[in-house]
Amino acid sequence: MLNVPSQSFPAPRSQQRVASGGRSKVPLKQGRSLMDWIRLTKSGKDLTGLKGRLIEVTEEELKKHNKKDDCWICIRGFVYNVSPYMEYHPGGEDELMRAAGSDGTELFDQVHRWVNYESMLKECLVGRMAIKPTVLKDYREEEKKVLNGMLPKSQVTDTLAKEGPSYPSYDWFQTDSLVTIAIYTKQKDINLDSIIVDHQNDSFRAETIIKDCLYLIHIGLSHEVQEDFSGLYYRKCQLISKEDVTHDTRLFCLMLPPSTHLQVPIGQHVYLKLSVTGTEIVKPYTPVSGSLLAEFKEPVLPNNKYIYFLIKIYPTGLFTSELDRLQIGDFVSVSSPEGNFKISKFQELEELFLLAAGTGFTPMVKILNYALTDIPSLRKVKLMFFNKTEDDIIWRSQLEKLAFKDKRLDVEFVLSAPTSEWNGKQGHISPALLSEFLKRNLDKSKVLVCICGPVPFTEQGVRLLHDLNFSKNEIHSFTA
Ligand code: FAD
Ligand code: NAP
Repeated sequence: MLNVPSQSFPAPRSQQRVASGGRSKVPLKQGRSLMDWIRLTKSGKDLTGLKGRLIEVTEEELKKHNKKDDCWICIRGFVYNVSPYMEYHPGGEDELMRAAGSDGTELFDQVHRWVNYESMLKECLVGRMAIKPTVLKDYREEEKKVLNGMLPKSQVTDTLAKEGPSYPSYDWFQTDSLVTIAIYTKQKDINLDSIIVDHQNDSFRAETIIKDCLYLIHIGLSHEVQEDFSGLYYRKCQLISKEDVTHDTRLFCLMLPPSTHLQVPIGQHVYLKLSVTGTEIVKPYTPVSGSLLAEFKEPVLPNNKYIYFLIKIYPTGLFTSELDRLQIGDFVSVSSPEGNFKISKFQELEELFLLAAGTGFTPMVKILNYALTDIPSLRKVKLMFFNKTEDDIIWRSQLEKLAFKDKRLDVEFVLSAPTSEWNGKQGHISPALLSEFLKRNLDKSKVLVCICGPVPFTEQGVRLLHDLNFSKNEIHSFTA
């Protein structure tokens, strides 16, 4: 990923090193971290070899630049000379070379659609494609209509009707002071967390999820909106409060813009975007809400207007150290949600096991709340929470209180570097710990195991779960 720091990180023997399998990051040379890249882009060096000139690139020309020391890649119609970036790419040179001299949009979207390559690679921009290349067909539906009464209603609905019966359509009613937009989804019982509405300046957007597909209706209110629909949409949110939860983890509360409705669904994350020395950096974070939050903070602000995040601040972390420097009232950009967790996994669920390490606890906060309040079939919930020391445990007393109140919940803390006073469980995720923890209460009960933490922790956990005969359907692992 473009935004993952680099060089010898994770250190060769570090637990955070990505294990074999999965999308691997290659060890980068000394002096090739993301920060080093940002420094190079600010150095004034001519990174394209074109002395700042932008050119129109034909497909034939693009094809010629297909070698490591002369490598051009097209992403969404823009061509970049990525040769200077090769050694800085955490996914490795070979990964970049897969798109050498061609349109890499599809490949890029498969691997890291959320990465802000425009900002990261702005000094590598060669120019635009002369002939529009084929780009990945996006699953979002896009409508750019000039509202102010310029299109007759029938024209809009006719266009949409041709596109198939399950597509949402829309209509509007307008007075001198009010525009009401009605979106017809043909679906009963729409959840508030499957609708996102934003209104900024002249742009109105509504996103809705229908049968696992995301549809976007975007209306320009007075003139056509110039927007890149292929990336994630960001809105600027204001930092309202920041409170210590542990010695290094803080609860951040962000306020959405007044005309935005956004509720992040259970198990999904958003991307936060900040400018670090002039380059936009994007990192994923999982909002928290529910009873554990309420135990920590009184009152909790409404979750369609405010978003809460538990974020660990790493002293040398690129994004978190910048985030921690923000003052109350400053702004952070927040993307629309992403993630592949399906709430249908909870249907008829009887036993739920949660395995979390460090801030891998964040998706479990909403899951715990939902499971304990909305799943009548649920008989048992067990959380095994791995941390280094007692001081690292997020919301320990809140979890203990909840377990005391709700007898279906058991919480076990496992520490990898405890003090001599600790008389609880110790060590890392292991067959011995899991086989004891994951004993089913009933023989054929419907079970779900959710796991989240550092990538190697999660990968090892999933392997152990398979060894313990949990099926693929019974496991959900959280990754980017
Ligand atoms: P980085 O710069 O990426 O550094 C991370 C760590 O590496 C730090 O310990 C840093 O000190 C160390 N490091 C950096 N460079 C070096 C080096 N050269 N040598 C040695 N060590 C180095 N995190 C949360 O806190 N809360 C969440 O809710 C959350 N949700 C997430 C959801 C998803 C889907 C994913 C994938 C991750 C989530 N994360 C969450 C993690 C988050 O995205 C970031 O990875 C994290 O905040 C670190 O970002 P950073 O830029 O500050 O640190
Ligand atoms: P941490 O404090 O470094 O580690 C938490 C616990 O996990 C410690 O006991 C640690 O043991 C153990 N651990 C670390 N690596 C391990 C490994 N390879 N195998 C077994 N145990 C291991 O964790 P953190 O700094 O909070 O990091 C949390 C991670 O979760 C981050 O990588 C973040 O990206 C990820 N996360 C992902 C999501 C998501 O995908 N949705 C959401 C939130 C967070 P040691 O003492 O030995 O290190």
